[in-house]
Amino acid sequence: MRIVMLGPPGAGKGTQARYIAQNHNISHISTGDMLRESVERETEYGSRAKRYIEKGKLVPDDVVNGIVEERLPTGKNEGFLLDGYPRNLNQAEVLESILDKNAISLDGVLYIEIEDEKVIKRLTGRRVCQDCGENFHTVFNSPAENGICDKCGGDLKQREDDTPEVVKQRLEVYRENTEPLVEFYDKKSIIIDVSGNGTIQEVAERIEDKLKTL
Ligand code: AMP
Repeated sequence: MRIVMLGPPGAGKGTQARYIAQNHNISHISTGDMLRESVERETEYGSRAKRYIEKGKLVPDDVVNGIVEERLPTGKNEGFLLDGYPRNLNQAEVLESILDKNAISLDGVLYIEIEDEKVIKRLTGRRVCQDCGENFHTVFNSPAENGICDKCGGDLKQREDDTPEVVKQRLEVYRENTEPLVEFYDKKSIIIDVSGNGTIQEVAERIEDKLKTL
């Protein structure tokens, strides 16, 4: 199964992607995670990407496309779930050409919809484990012990780009650059609409129901 996850920041793409990848035994390719990892490791890509991520802007296409070309599993029997890529039309075209070159195609584009107000609440309250990457929320999914990951005991921190000002910028970037991809994929008749409202479990069940039809 080859899937792209589409939707605004805070729609739950990362959380749902982890579940789907595990259930279906496919690779979870998150450009956001890979970029943050490069920033941590202070690689050349990372130092270029850092200032864009901090401001909630898109990292230049050549950096992101390069990472995806390197890491996307393109074997005939390999599945993947792309989370956070493509984020504009140029990236979508690059993805098309990678797929064409390998004679493979997407099975669907999961489009998770949610209102801005909810996105802001979700993202500003999000806390991420510094060790295992698990996500928590100060109100909707709080850990048993404040600031400590339930899963591995790591420290929970707020992402630098989850502050109210940067979240607002990320939403603007999404509307301008990423939302047009809904039409791009709709023309190919591969959009799968899912509401991002409700609990993590409710959204996961909705997604699994839709994936069964593929
Ligand atoms: P995410 O974890 O998907 O919310 O991504 C966090 C940040 O990483 C974004 O706000 C961008 O600055 C950067 N980023 C992630 N994926 C991409 C992409 N496909 N194109 C450009 N920038 C990206």
